[in-house]
Amino acid sequence: MDEIKSKLFYEQKNGYDLIDTAERVAVEDYCREYMEYLNISRTEREAVINAIDKAREYGFVEFRAGMELRPGMKVYYCNRGKALILAVIGKHSLADGAVIAGAHVDAPRIDLKQNPMYETDELCYFRTHYYGGIKKYQWVTIPLELHGVVVLKDGTVVDVCIGREPGEPRFVITDLLPHMAQEQAKKTMAEGITGEGLQILLGSVPYAGDGKDRVKLAVMSILNDMYGITEEDFLSAELTAVPAFDVCEVGLDRSLIGGYGHDDRVCAYAELKAIFDVKDPERTCICILADKEEIGSDGVTGMQSAAFDCFMEDLCASQGVELRRCYENSFCLSADVTAAFDPLYSDAYEKSNDAKVNYGMGICKFTGARGKSGTSDASAEVVAYLRRLFDKAGVVWQLTEMGKVDLGGGGTIAKYMANRNIDTIDAGVPVLSMHAPFEVVSKFDCYMTYKGVLAAYNDD
Ligand code: MN
Ligand code: MN
Repeated sequence: MDEIKSKLFYEQKNGYDLIDTAERVAVEDYCREYMEYLNISRTEREAVINAIDKAREYGFVEFRAGMELRPGMKVYYCNRGKALILAVIGKHSLADGAVIAGAHVDAPRIDLKQNPMYETDELCYFRTHYYGGIKKYQWVTIPLELHGVVVLKDGTVVDVCIGREPGEPRFVITDLLPHMAQEQAKKTMAEGITGEGLQILLGSVPYAGDGKDRVKLAVMSILNDMYGITEEDFLSAELTAVPAFDVCEVGLDRSLIGGYGHDDRVCAYAELKAIFDVKDPERTCICILADKEEIGSDGVTGMQSAAFDCFMEDLCASQGVELRRCYENSFCLSADVTAAFDPLYSDAYEKSNDAKVNYGMGICKFTGARGKSGTSDASAEVVAYLRRLFDKAGVVWQLTEMGKVDLGGGGTIAKYMANRNIDTIDAGVPVLSMHAPFEVVSKFDCYMTYKGVLAAYNDD
C-alpha cells in the first residue's frame, strides 16, 4: 500500500530534506549578500540606486533609445530614480518573446505630510500619512529613521537620511502607558491607534528667547544647519519614516532573516542576482524593480505606467519587431511575496493550500479576494510549464494561496502584466508578519526564489 500511495498521492517535503551540504552553503552565501542589500535599501529610491551600482559592476550600461543591441548585451533603464528595468539581450529575436521577472521595491511606511512640522505643549512633531497597508499599532514605540529627498524650488535635490548610521539620532511615535489605557484597550485593534495619531516626536528643547513655537524653531534650525532647508521646502519633499532595525538572522539555528521591507525587496534581489548570473540567454531576460505596488501600481513609476511599454518598444524597435508580437510570446514571473503559514494564527489559513516556511518558492496561480476578484488567475498550461521547468532545474517550490477563501486576499503586479497579453504567474518568498515593521523570511525560500527566477531566465 505504501508503494501505491507514494505513486498516486502528492506529498510535499521540507526543503532541508531535499538539498545537500553544498547547496546549504550556497543558501548561506546568497542570503549574506541579500541581507547586506536589504540593510542599505530602505526606500524604493535606495533600492534602485543600490541595484544600479551592482548592475554596473556586472557590466550593465544605461540604455539609450536607438542604441544597437547585440546578444549578450546588458542594459538598464531607470525611471525617475524610483523604478528600474534591466535587460540582457538574448540570442533569439524579441519576436520570440522575453522572459520577464517583475518585483516591486516600495514597501509600507510612514510618509510625512506636506505641512508636517508643528509644536504642541513644548514638544515638536511631524504629522504623517501612512503608505500601503499597515496595522497601525505596530508602528508605535519602535525606533524610526528618516529617509527621502527635499527638492528645492530651483530643482536641487537634497538627499535626507537620519538615523541609519550608528550614533545618529532616531525617531519614535509614542503610545499611551498601559496604566492609563483602559479606554484605549476597549477599542478594536484597527481603532486603537488612528492615522492622525501617527505623529513622530522630533525634539523638546526650546530656542533661547521668548515667544511661541520655540521648540519647533530649534528643530527647524537644526534641519537648516544640516540640509539648508526651510519649512516651506517640505512642500516639495518626499520624506518617510521607516523602521530603524538592522537586518539580522532570527532563531537559534539562524535559519530565518528578520528585517524591514522583505516585501518585496526579497524578490527584487532574487531577480537582480539571477539576471547578473545569467550567461548568454536564448531569449531576452528582463528584470523589473517597480514602484507603487503597495498602493495599487498606479502612477508614473508604477507597473500600470507606460514606462515599461516604452522601454520594451524601444528594445523591439532595435530589432524591427512589433511590441505586441513580443508581448504575446513573453512569459512573466510576477515575483512577489506571499503569506507563510503561521501556526500562531492558524485560524486565518487553509493549511493544505498555504505556503509553508522552508518549502521553497511560493507560486500563486491567483491572488485577489473573495471569488478570485481582481486577479489574473494564470492558466493551467502556465503552471504545468513551471512544473517542468523547476523539476529540471532542481528548484524547490510550492503552490500556494493567501489564507481562507473569504478571509484572505491581496494584489500584485501580475494582473497588469497579464493585461498586456503576457502569460504571467505570481511567484515569490513566503513571509511571516508581512507588512509589519520587522518581517521574517526563511533563508531557504529566499535562495530557491533566486534559483527559480534563474531557471526561467536560462530556459530555452
Ligand atoms: Mn508585495
Ligand atoms: Mn505588500
